[in-house]
Amino acid sequence: MSEKTKGQKLMKELSYKKQNYFEAASKEEKQAIFDYAEGYKAFLDAAKTEREACAASVALAKEKGFSEYKFGDPLKAGDKKYFVNRGKSVVVFRVGSLPLEEDGIRIIASHIDAPRVDIKQNPLYEDSGMAFLKTHYYGGIKKYQWTAIPLALHGAVVLKDGTKVEIRVGEDAGDPVFYINDLLPHLGQEQMSGHANKLIEGEQLNVLVGGLPYPDEEVSDKIKLTVLSILHEKYGMCEEDFLSAELSAVPAYPARDVGFDRALIGAYGHDDRVCAYPALTAVLDNETPHTVLAMLVDKEEIGSEGNTGIQSKVYEDLMEEISIALGANFRKVRAASKCLSSDVTAAYDPNFANVYEKMNAAILSCGTAMCKFTGSRGKSGSNDANAEFIGEVRKMFAEEGVVWQTAELGKVDIGGGGTVAKFIANLNIDTVDLGVPVISMHAPWEVISKADLYSNYKAFLAFMK
Ligand code: MN
Ligand code: MN
Repeated sequence: MSEKTKGQKLMKELSYKKQNYFEAASKEEKQAIFDYAEGYKAFLDAAKTEREACAASVALAKEKGFSEYKFGDPLKAGDKKYFVNRGKSVVVFRVGSLPLEEDGIRIIASHIDAPRVDIKQNPLYEDSGMAFLKTHYYGGIKKYQWTAIPLALHGAVVLKDGTKVEIRVGEDAGDPVFYINDLLPHLGQEQMSGHANKLIEGEQLNVLVGGLPYPDEEVSDKIKLTVLSILHEKYGMCEEDFLSAELSAVPAYPARDVGFDRALIGAYGHDDRVCAYPALTAVLDNETPHTVLAMLVDKEEIGSEGNTGIQSKVYEDLMEEISIALGANFRKVRAASKCLSSDVTAAYDPNFANVYEKMNAAILSCGTAMCKFTGSRGKSGSNDANAEFIGEVRKMFAEEGVVWQTAELGKVDIGGGGTVAKFIANLNIDTVDLGVPVISMHAPWEVISKADLYSNYKAFLAFMK
């Protein structure tokens, strides 16, 4: 104390500095950070597609005494409900004791779809000793990252008679995996001198699925027939059933701790399950007088379209149904509601320092990151939250001791990204983006900090308190 000069004291009092959450946390809180990560890793492994994330979320909700809600059901204070939209998005909510028209709904919106390689509708062929499935990738990927890694196949097939069959191959220890071929360096001079966009083209992302010829001299596509016969035996499928299938190739790796100190987690699909899981558990765990709701939606990675994406009327309808069931005017409810649009942001990476503006980039382990605006080159396409609402949220976080930071995705004139925030804000709901910083976002295996994951969970608890 005594060795501090007046200027040093004043600087400490007046200036702002980010805090590393591992450093700021007490011993007990540090333990809580590591414990919480275990549940998250289990969720990741169970939930590699939106369908699986939806089912895993429902299972967790049921464990906590939540029951299914359908439009028109009566509701009362204390009810704990989940609403499933076509098996691909899910909303969990608790009805609070405060009057809905004055207090609104505390909403957290996140997404459970992730970039991947989807199988086409007429995909199966054989060529030169190999059978392949043709694909069309989903979301913004660097295509070259998806070659030469073990892949699993996940999804659903609706058979000719209307039966739905779930497929999940490549996750269990005894399962085979799948693969996208790359070129050997010995023949890769031309490939490697080209643009990274063209290292592998969309039509070269064919998934290797077989190599055993069917033992019949009279058949021409013998390897294709072997694959078809296995699909028929295991799933009752014929080739025509691919027409009504949704199959995705996703990385076959499980979530793992990264680093000697286990501070980080590597996994497929942190974007955006690292926000969806805390949103879900915050609603499941939280006894609060507010009506709270977490939306885990689909299709964010391709523009939030379709009847399972956030632009679908279904979410607005649900909130209106909740309002009607509680005798509240929906317009008043919306106007009083608040939303954290929870999606990941880019963590500052010193290996690629030139694309970030360090003062306003999210620093790993400094907590969940609030983005006032997304977009790029003039904030185009962004929600750009109001200072008043940020001030309100900031106060909630301070009261609960949440370690958090603000962030911008990259330099002003370089790329950018959108979130679901603007669609919710359009409903006349105060909304701001808040989410976990990610290293190598959209890669088959992304990295996050356990401190940021737990900070996100704590931020949601504070927002709902
Ligand atoms: Mn996202
Ligand atoms: Mn994304």
